[in-house]
Amino acid sequence: MSKIWNGKTIEWKRPNTWVPLLSRWIRPHLNERGIRYLQRFGYQEICWDDSEWLGITQSVLNKDIEFVVQDFAEAVHASTIRTFHGCRPVAPRTYHEDGIMMNNPRALEEQARRLVYDDETLTSLRPSIEKEIIEYIFRDQDQGNVFVVLDDRFMISSAGHYLIYGSEWLVGLLGPRAHSTLRNRGYPTIFVVDLPLNLINFEVVKHLFEALLQEWTRIKVNRPSWIPEKNFSFCLHQDIPSSMIVTHYHPKLICDPLYNRIVRQNEFVSCPDCNSI
Ligand SMILES: [Zn+2]
Repeated sequence: MSKIWNGKTIEWKRPNTWVPLLSRWIRPHLNERGIRYLQRFGYQEICWDDSEWLGITQSVLNKDIEFVVQDFAEAVHASTIRTFHGCRPVAPRTYHEDGIMMNNPRALEEQARRLVYDDETLTSLRPSIEKEIIEYIFRDQDQGNVFVVLDDRFMISSAGHYLIYGSEWLVGLLGPRAHSTLRNRGYPTIFVVDLPLNLINFEVVKHLFEALLQEWTRIKVNRPSWIPEKNFSFCLHQDIPSSMIVTHYHPKLICDPLYNRIVRQNEFVSCPDCNSI
């Protein structure tokens, strides 16, 4: 099996980390038309995320695309994908020390209680918090899951509530009554996580490769000067160890999907831990 991908880190928004490798890796799977055929294909008015691109890819392959996708998912086993986790921790340092923990409803309940009893702006929630915890229908929905995304730009523009309000579990439990309190606690933070692909479900890796292959084809044919924001997430069922967290940063502007996507200015663009990691 080809070792081209071994030890490499693939980053969606930096095509130079994967396009040249993909061009090399795919060579044995190409028919006599080859990459040159794509380069001479001429500009296509096809939306970047239209799977019609894969039809063009198929026209240069020497076997069904399904088998190429399968081969790739096996070949990337020993490489890493750069991913991002958005949240709003009070002390970002703890993530660098402890890693990113799976959703744990029991721990989140405790956090909710502490928040409601410690913060004076939430006194009105105190009489009902225990009842609301018991009746919370989403309590166990994400138990044992951790989510990371392929493109941090998509998180900032379309899933900014994790950065603005923190845990979706807490926001769901406490509701709009707590929004302004949550907006003023902690630091909107994106952790950069280099995730070994062998931790990801094989079927998901195949979907990832389809996405890469589609974009690779668009790049070869259209030679675009921009990189699309990709909505692609990975769900893990284990804690992410701190050794996989490369760094973190605090985005300046974040879209708020809970309030008609207004753009909120982040006042916390650095934290005490920015320089110590
Ligand atoms: Zn920081």
